[in-house]
Amino acid sequence: MSELHKFLFEGLPVRGMLVRLTESWQELLARRTRAADIFPLPVRTLLGEMAAAGVLMQANIKFNGALILQVFGDGPVRLAVTEVQPDLTFRATAKVVGEVAPDARLEAMLNLHGQGRCAITLDPKDKRPGQQPYQGIVPLHGDHQEPLQELSQVLEHYMLQSEQLDTRLVLAADERIAAGLLIQRLPVEGAGNLQGERNEDRIGQDEAFNRIAHLAGSLTRKELLTLDADTILRRLFWEEKLLRFVPQAGANGPRFHCGCSRERVAAMLRGLGRPEVDGILAEQGRVEIACDFCGQKYHFDPVDAAGLFLPAGTQPPGSSAIN
Ligand SMILES: [Zn+2]
Repeated sequence: MSELHKFLFEGLPVRGMLVRLTESWQELLARRTRAADIFPLPVRTLLGEMAAAGVLMQANIKFNGALILQVFGDGPVRLAVTEVQPDLTFRATAKVVGEVAPDARLEAMLNLHGQGRCAITLDPKDKRPGQQPYQGIVPLHGDHQEPLQELSQVLEHYMLQSEQLDTRLVLAADERIAAGLLIQRLPVEGAGNLQGERNEDRIGQDEAFNRIAHLAGSLTRKELLTLDADTILRRLFWEEKLLRFVPQAGANGPRFHCGCSRERVAAMLRGLGRPEVDGILAEQGRVEIACDFCGQKYHFDPVDAAGLFLPAGTQPPGSSAIN
């Protein structure tokens, strides 16, 4: 079962989380059954790491809305995106436009000409009128313009920039599991705050964090993919005092879910405009839209399509059009 483990280090300003997406990740992959839809292996790995990271980041904030993690760029992969809701349901997809080499990493996939970016968007559930989603963007290169090859490095960079918090991330994914370990220094609070100490003053300075981050960094991808959570935490932190929360699994844990619906597709078609939709109908006899995230197909025949553009409440009887 997919699971999320949260823990604290007793007496130290450090927290951690470990996520393992198993059947939920397999379900996401299994949705893409046609050969043409199956992503190349490096893209699947990237999406798995993004799903694991997205769950960790969503679980790490108090925010009622979707967390959307996107990497977009100028290579054979144009976009990879994962979206995680506050209840830890997630979905992910990618847009691949060219050949992806079997050993391609971040630069070869998304940052061929240095234009790759990673964006984290927090989209509030109940938006006030005019309220915009919050978005932070970081490039796919380090402080010295060196291209980053790992998503974990990009996200560590983002956390440092956006929250001034030291973070260590280990991510890995294969066909069976997408997993991640996050270790983060806690924000300065209470006494530290009163003395005017700021989060940025502590960057790289906290000995406890540095020690624990170093331990976390010794976790190999293979261990992350093959060992259970208890074994990983025991092996890494056997000398530390861990305070563990009740793991979140099953209905409370991370799981695959796509929020697409016929209503949303109808709204999208309305946004496209009548001439465009009529053009598709003339060419293909009906409109077929497949959800990029889950593969669900939505069909609109000419009667359905005509109903899309009628004022609410005036659909012809017997039509399945959406208001
Ligand atoms: Zn869907």
